[in-house]
Amino acid sequence: MDEVLERLTRNVDAVRARIAAAARRCGRPAEEITLVGVTKYVGAEMTRLFPDAGCTVLGESRPQQLWRKAAEIDDPRIAWHLIGHLQRNKISRTLPMVACIQSADSGALLDQLQRHAKRLGVAPRVLLEVNISGDPEKHGFAPAAAGALAARLDAWHPLRFIGLMTMAARASDAESARADFAALRRLRDQMRAKCAGSADLSELSMGMSRDFETAIEEGATIVRIGSALLEGVPRE
Ligand SMILES: *Cc1c(COP(=O)(O)O)cnc(C)c1O
Repeated sequence: MDEVLERLTRNVDAVRARIAAAARRCGRPAEEITLVGVTKYVGAEMTRLFPDAGCTVLGESRPQQLWRKAAEIDDPRIAWHLIGHLQRNKISRTLPMVACIQSADSGALLDQLQRHAKRLGVAPRVLLEVNISGDPEKHGFAPAAAGALAARLDAWHPLRFIGLMTMAARASDAESARADFAALRRLRDQMRAKCAGSADLSELSMGMSRDFETAIEEGATIVRIGSALLEGVPRE
């Protein structure tokens, strides 16, 4: 396992260096960008190495996988982010385990999140997932629907809306992803103007292994990276 940890550490360092270089190119402080290590490709044995490798914010796309790993690993350094679709019947078990729900993708889900948050006495951090490219296979609010939510985010108290999340169009290269990222940032700016300080929406979660540098140039504050951290690491 030592060799694997060494390799994983090198990958984390390399990705952080690329994040810092991309931030520098556009005059942004690298510290304002959070690296979320996406661990969905590997099991608990590999996932548990991430904090020692220098990555403590971890993303899982399936709630059951997140539950299983959070229980098995039980490392207080880890902050779990849910980055995939959350079914209603999984909300109550997921909420107490996560630092952030990045994938709030419908008004009905927000209603249920609110109900459970009140019951549990928690104020979860939430990102609104936007289907910025209009891909019918993707989850997320249509941009127009998300824009219309801005003025009534208060209605979902105690949810704390910290920003927006998106995935660029599936087949796109980094440069066509740029248009999607820029569109998400513009949408966020419009929403911010409308929500009159009730939510600060400062976070933009966009960019994955193939396009995170472009996303940073377009304003990403959270990048979600899986494959680039796992180069040369055995996937269980
Ligand atoms: C899998 C996944 C990622 C990471 O993708 P990589 O290309 O492996 O970096 C990021 N975000 C979401 C929502 C994912 O499901």
